[in-house]
Amino acid sequence: MSKTLSLEKKLETYFGYSEFRVGQKEIISDVLDSKDVLGILPTGTGKSICYQLPARILRGVTIVVSPLISLMMDQVKELKAMNFKEVVALNSFLDYDKRKQIIKSLHRYKLIYISPEMLQQKELQFYLSKITISLFVVDEAHCISQWGHEFRPDYQKLNTVIRQIGDPPVLALSATATKEVQDDIIKSLGRPMNKHIFPMDRSNIALTIQEVMNNEEKLDIITSVLSVHHVPTLIYFSSKNATENVSHLLSERLPEHRIAFYHGGMEQMDRVAIQQQFMNDQIDVICCTSAFGMGINKNNIRFVFHYHFPGQIESYIQEIGRAGRDGNPSISILLYCRQDSFLPQQMIESELPSDKDLIRAHQLLLAYRGAKKTLPTEIVEIQTIFEISEVQWRFISSQLEKHGIKIENGLKYDESKLDESFKYIKNIRDERLFLKQAKLNEMLNWIHSNTCLRNGLYIKFQNGHTKVEELCCSNCGIRLQDFKPEQTKRHVTIPTWEKKLKHLLVVGESK
Ligand code: ADP
Repeated sequence: MSKTLSLEKKLETYFGYSEFRVGQKEIISDVLDSKDVLGILPTGTGKSICYQLPARILRGVTIVVSPLISLMMDQVKELKAMNFKEVVALNSFLDYDKRKQIIKSLHRYKLIYISPEMLQQKELQFYLSKITISLFVVDEAHCISQWGHEFRPDYQKLNTVIRQIGDPPVLALSATATKEVQDDIIKSLGRPMNKHIFPMDRSNIALTIQEVMNNEEKLDIITSVLSVHHVPTLIYFSSKNATENVSHLLSERLPEHRIAFYHGGMEQMDRVAIQQQFMNDQIDVICCTSAFGMGINKNNIRFVFHYHFPGQIESYIQEIGRAGRDGNPSISILLYCRQDSFLPQQMIESELPSDKDLIRAHQLLLAYRGAKKTLPTEIVEIQTIFEISEVQWRFISSQLEKHGIKIENGLKYDESKLDESFKYIKNIRDERLFLKQAKLNEMLNWIHSNTCLRNGLYIKFQNGHTKVEELCCSNCGIRLQDFKPEQTKRHVTIPTWEKKLKHLLVVGESK
């Protein structure tokens, strides 16, 4: 009891919160007892406190593996504003000297955010092994399973890093992890973990699906909804081009709205700027790919549209989870037309190497080896030589690495080992394709179901869901026009010179 009280006192002292939210205390108590923990809490509950409070209490350093630079920077800024100064984010934004200086003085910090890629640096691992690490946190731990196999293979190597830096207790946190994803996280981190799994359904988000004939109809629906409601809105797309095109079209149709686009192909600085303006209510609507939203602590997003639906239910839940973090009524609107199904299908196929790609890569590696030539280090050159995308190459090279073949160390392996590895890679590729296809089918079945969407969405994740009397889902009878969000006060921004001029010239135009 006294431990509980003192924990609550510490929460109040360090963060100013009078009580714990669901799940926080259980997780923190286990963490402070040096247990390995897997915590699944719904978006917006306050997962960060589960390691930020221990970081303040524990004697050594807490390391947090975080997937996004913007996310790390926001967290560091917020913590510093709360007077927690011994916090730092180690990322590629820091210049070389600054990074070196931090790496050599790691013991001075209590909380260090690092990307999984940076954690692979041998020098950093060396310095980390010299300090006392009390806790190793994997934030957004579903990335291990969702991204670790293809996009960011370094997520699958965290286990080795943890051992190299002294085997500290591990805390893995996520808002969306099915039973299989939980198992995948635990398997990848290579240790049994105490599970704290809390229901992740969000009863304040109404779920709607609207079938349409074509993209023009999608635009009409979005335009008519937004012309009535001026509230923070996200619109998700599967293609970068579509975010830009639709953002321009909507800006023409809705001149009063401040609309921007955001995708992974943009410069980092532009992305950070857009995100900041959205956070500050200087942008109302963001047309984005899945690259936007992880860790965004904006609590008044009311609409999340899906212009294109994602290839798996987990991504959909993460994306709609960005709505209504303040607990107020919000709505997700999936606009579906039959032609859309080919997009995620195409994406699945483009993420993994085809049989032809594998044969070509195998033969080229043999040829390089025979000629005693080393491969270029630049990924663009690799892409040209192997006629392959970056993601496909990363998949091949990380699988080869699992077989002990590290390409960057030169092609010093025997031929039979390479043959054997490629057979293995083909099997893994088939497994991944099968899994992704199954996930896409699950998503499509959900879209086409005619029973309660809320039940169908969460059934894989938890037993039952919070019953919602009003505004449950479109299959339970709600319509878009029934939803009336509270309006958000617009932030006053300095008008551009064009707007000022227009304002002067148009007589009687209201402000
Ligand atoms: P998420 O679970 O989505 O990662 P965050 O950790 O970003 O959520 O926290 C969401 C918000 O909740 C933050 O503004 C945080 O300060 C606040 N918060 C966290 N824990 C508590 C608490 N016990 N009481 C009140 N507010 C809290």
